[in-house]
Amino acid sequence: MTSTPHKMKRPKRGVPEGLWQSCPGCQAAIYRQEADKRLGVCPECDYHWYVPAKDRIVQVLDEGTFEPWDDDLRPTDPLEFVDRKAYKDRLVAEQKRTGLTDAAITGTGMIRARRVAFGVTDSAFIMGSMGSVVGERLTRLVERATEQQLPLIIISGSGGGARMHEGILSLMQMAKVSTALAQYDDSGGLFISVLTNPTMGGVAASFASLGDVVFAEPKALIGFAGPRTIKATIRLELPEGFQTSEFLLEHGFIDRIVHRAKLKSEIARTIDYCGK
Ligand SMILES: [Zn+2]
Repeated sequence: MTSTPHKMKRPKRGVPEGLWQSCPGCQAAIYRQEADKRLGVCPECDYHWYVPAKDRIVQVLDEGTFEPWDDDLRPTDPLEFVDRKAYKDRLVAEQKRTGLTDAAITGTGMIRARRVAFGVTDSAFIMGSMGSVVGERLTRLVERATEQQLPLIIISGSGGGARMHEGILSLMQMAKVSTALAQYDDSGGLFISVLTNPTMGGVAASFASLGDVVFAEPKALIGFAGPRTIKATIRLELPEGFQTSEFLLEHGFIDRIVHRAKLKSEIARTIDYCGK
């Protein structure tokens, strides 16, 4: 689990919002409808707010074109894991709260009339962490993209990395999805990975970083371990803006920062540019 610096603080995820919302970027009270019109971007400071996976589908895919794949997969509790509460109870509560069955939605749809394989993770569901269902849905998504020679788009919003409640079964998803991506790459596929706030841990350390092209939303927190953990380990002051999209662009870890309003066009343009 990672901690986020003060600037990155977001409102409680998955909680119904009122008419006004305090912006995590500039702390101003923002009229919710105004931000929604701008795809969840603050009209005052351009801070990119959290967007649920279902809204991402609406924002990026052509209207009514999305068909889910492997929607029937459900998480189980093979370790009978208990932390503050039993994992099986936590799953039920998260499903009820978010309306999702697990932290990833995958399927196919069109982006400006180009058919793509599309996946998105949602940080509201146990921090968007990758358990067996997230790993399996993504792996099958990549495998279908390979078979059907589709461009592959995955939007990551995962602060939790691997899901500790599933132990080793969760960790092995990193290798599984990465292997499928290597096969996809061998077949000549184009994988566009879009990193959003936050993309951390085992998600950042597997599929999210393996894009042929890696986009990030502005000011997203992206990294492996959280800044506090790193600071405590290396005992050095971390540079300004450490683990933000802007810092990582400068250091060559991502290819481009893309504003949410331009994401759809930019993906379509990249697909065309790469001749896919
Ligand atoms: Zn703001």
